[in-house]
Amino acid sequence: MKTLTMKFGGTSVGSVEAISNVVEIVRSEVENGNRVVVVVSAMGGVTDMLVETVNAAVRGDKWEYQKLADRIRDRHEDTIEALMEPGDARETILKKIDKLLDDQIKLCEAVGILGERTDRIMDGIVSFGERLSSRMIAAIMQEHGVNAKQFDATRLLLTNDNFQDADPIWDGTQARIEKHVIGALDEGYVPVITGFIGSTADGTITTLGRGGSDYSAAIMAAYSGSDELIIWTDVDGVMTTDPRIDDRAQVLPTVSYQEVGELAFYGAKVLHPKTVQPIIELDMPVRVRNTFNPTHPGTLIQAESEAIATIIKAVTVVRNVSLLTVGGRGMIGVPGIAGRAFGATARAGASILMISQSSSEQSFCFTVPENKAVDVRGSIEAELTEEINSRDVDSVVIQDDVVIITAVGSGMRGTPGIAGRVFTVMGNNDVNVLSIAQGSSECSISFIVSEEDTERAVVALHDLALETVRSLS
Ligand code: ADP
Ligand code: ASP
Ligand code: MG
Repeated sequence: MKTLTMKFGGTSVGSVEAISNVVEIVRSEVENGNRVVVVVSAMGGVTDMLVETVNAAVRGDKWEYQKLADRIRDRHEDTIEALMEPGDARETILKKIDKLLDDQIKLCEAVGILGERTDRIMDGIVSFGERLSSRMIAAIMQEHGVNAKQFDATRLLLTNDNFQDADPIWDGTQARIEKHVIGALDEGYVPVITGFIGSTADGTITTLGRGGSDYSAAIMAAYSGSDELIIWTDVDGVMTTDPRIDDRAQVLPTVSYQEVGELAFYGAKVLHPKTVQPIIELDMPVRVRNTFNPTHPGTLIQAESEAIATIIKAVTVVRNVSLLTVGGRGMIGVPGIAGRAFGATARAGASILMISQSSSEQSFCFTVPENKAVDVRGSIEAELTEEINSRDVDSVVIQDDVVIITAVGSGMRGTPGIAGRVFTVMGNNDVNVLSIAQGSSECSISFIVSEEDTERAVVALHDLALETVRSLS
């Protein structure tokens, strides 16, 4: 007997067909004698719609947020009606859905009165996606013979109050999951838990950030004594690049924790960047599999990188970033400018994905999310006012419309010439590289190119990755 934590993403719970597959996948594991913990996302597109309801409420557009809430209600109702027979169970769940959406509208009304959105109210409102889907799926599972029991992770996942991007408080979370989730498993239930959300000690709802259900599932897996975490999604596994950019993308049979961490950090949406954190120490295997193609073995994520000489395994893109350059001839002699600039960046609430310094020390550059660039520049200029006045630092320049491209593969470590190959390929394809950085782990190389070069750069670099895959098979 094994304990498996299975996370089903938005597309995997987004339609009647998908949910039928989910029920089958879970039921067959239970029939095999395994214990299963289920973590679900909101139905695909619902979180975006909930964000829109908040925006509409801020504008005072009552008609718009009610229309969106109705669409969300219809999707859940239609799904329930397709997958449950008429009767008490169906009436009960339909009423619950209705009641939740009434509460959601009330929150929108409150936002409308205040006329502003806070991160806190945003989390409260977007949490409805998972609260709706988990109740719906648990009811459908019960109807189909799975002994499901719904949980809101607000009871399980204790977080700080960093709304929109909350961090778990580990000890409290562990105790709650052990008590409620392991308790339910011991009683023979299949817990069906909301992904994405948690709550502060005083019970206010938080979220782990967009795409955060993967992270929720890893936390549930870590503390429920699971033997394996399975991320069920809408592609066959972790691929050599986003198949939406290059349809030649191939599934990678295995990747290491470190490689997948790097892939996710640098934009591969298939996993939330924090997913592997809770399970690395436990050495727990993770699989990424396709709900719509359940016989495919998917990708196995584990501690070891495959010993074969893989070089570039995958190519990723981060969009919507700006490149900031801090420069000035007087900087050479002034210690600590970079440190102060990064401190100022953090104070502006921006995280840095990539940093690069020219060898002359006359400038350094780094990327921040595009929507934070102007604030970050202001914050750095305030911090370095003296140096700017004395002309040691002469400017903080923002360059918009750039992307970060990353080549990932732990085989880069100790293999000379990879960077050379990467940049030769860029040169041969007329892609102008604006800045370069290599992680100290030597597991990835990142560089900045102009947004208009994205596809060309990815496809060219992906050719190199595919060469690697071909040479393995
Ligand atoms: P879910 O709703 O199941 O969490 P997501 O949409 O968040 O699914 O993530 C799956 C998507 O990630 C895929 O449909 C694919 O387009 C995208 N993706 C980006 N990069 C990769 C990659 N390297 N491998 C696989 N999928 C990727
Ligand atoms: N529903 C949330 C989102 O769309 C969380 C998730 O799906 O992982 O971001
Ligand atoms: Mg996702």
